[in-house]
Order: sequence, then structure tokens, then C-alpha cells
Amino acid sequence: MKLQFIGTASAKTSLKRFHSSVLLKDKDQSILIDTGEAVTKALLSQYIYFNSIDSIIITHLHADHYSGLPALITQMHLDNRTEVLNIYADITLIENLQDFLYNSYIFLKRLSFQINFIATEVNVEFSVSENVKVVSINNSHLKKYSDFDVKKRLSFTSSSLLLNFGNNRIHYSGDIGGFSDLQLMDKFNPTLLIAETAHITFSEIKQLLPLPFPHKIILTHYSDEDIPELKKSILSLPDEFEDKILLAEDGLTLNFQV
Ligand SMILES: [Zn+2]
Repeated sequence: MKLQFIGTASAKTSLKRFHSSVLLKDKDQSILIDTGEAVTKALLSQYIYFNSIDSIIITHLHADHYSGLPALITQMHLDNRTEVLNIYADITLIENLQDFLYNSYIFLKRLSFQINFIATEVNVEFSVSENVKVVSINNSHLKKYSDFDVKKRLSFTSSSLLLNFGNNRIHYSGDIGGFSDLQLMDKFNPTLLIAETAHITFSEIKQLLPLPFPHKIILTHYSDEDIPELKKSILSLPDEFEDKILLAEDGLTLNFQV
């Protein structure tokens, strides 16, 4: 199984890196997590064929995490896709996603392929492929906006994911609201934490150390101007922690035993 970072940038658009998105891939299944703006270019830049993606999981409805979805589906159609595409999201997000496609003039009946929208529920494990099981838990990322929803139609759902395959349990934080969200999956004893770094400081992340073996942390979703400070902070870690925290870059690929 391979985990490939498609984009590691924060919400700030970068000319060097794409918005955050990762691809989990084994020999016959590819699962893309999040589809931010320009995800089609991000995939092309890493030579990933649009129609090799079997499933998409959307963590939340911020532009840097989902606004590339209509463009990606359009590309799949233009490439004459015939395989079914599965789109997973929390049950409270499905209707908004469907409206987003409809409002982009993407009519499901007109597509060359079928889309299955699969509604997930908090704390209820779902299978994305034969090998990959996922649990989603709501984090506090969007809670601060709740007073602004004058139309009363948003759920403020932002999902953190536990990706479970073989002996690997990866906590993918998506976007978070604060430190306690980094511990959302602790009950599952994660072996790897992929932590966004846009809404939390390195000093807070460092409080997670020491980590139980073989737990590691990979930092992603950071802006270009944060790179020097993040690199310096990682280098200044005590020797025993130096390989515990890594900074992801677009294209970074990790291999896992299943
Ligand atoms: Zn966000």
C-alpha cells in the first residue's frame, strides 16, 4: 500500500505546491482524500490518471479541500470513464455535494459513468476497499463559524479520518480546530498521525511527544512562509525524536506493509 501526498499547501495558494490532498493506493484500488481547488492539475503533475481513482473521501466543504470536485468529475467524463466512482462524505454533507455538482451543470444521468454517493456516520466504520476500512469523527474545525449560518443549512461537519489497513492505523486530521483534535483517534492507538499544520503551532504538536512506538507524525497543510520555521523546529528536536516528526512535500510517497 502506498500513501502519496498530492498536495501539502495550506488554504493559501502557492505556485510551488498544491492544496492538501492524499492518495491511498494498493494494487487495485486508489482512494483520494479531498479534492481542493486545482486538484486536477495536482494529479496531472504527479502523472496520476484521473480514472485510476476509484473512490474519493471529502473531509469538509472548504474550498481548499473540495472545490476541485466538479473539475475532477468533468475530467473523468472527458476521459470516457466507465467505472463507477464512489464518493464518501459525512451524511450531513452529501446533499451539499450533490447540489455543488448540479449547480456546476454536472448532471449525473449525462455522465459516462455512475457516481455512488456514500453517506458515512460518525464512529461507524466503513469499507472503502477490500483492504481499507475507515472511521470518521467530527473535529472542531468549523465550529467557530456557526453564528454566521443565517440560512441555517450548514452542518459544520469537518471529519478527521482513521485509515485502517493491515496493521496500520493512520489518523488523517484533515483540518482541525485545536490541540484536542489531534487526539481524536487515540482510542484506536494510531501508528501514524498526518497532522495539518495551518491551525496549530509546532509547539502544540510537540506536546504529543514522546509517541508510543512506532507512531510518527507527518506535517502537512502548511503555507510556504511557514517552511523555514517548521524545518528549523524539526531540526531542533532532541535526538530521540528527530525521526518522529517529518514535513511532507508534494509527491512524498510512503510505503506500507499490508
Ligand atoms: Zn478547512
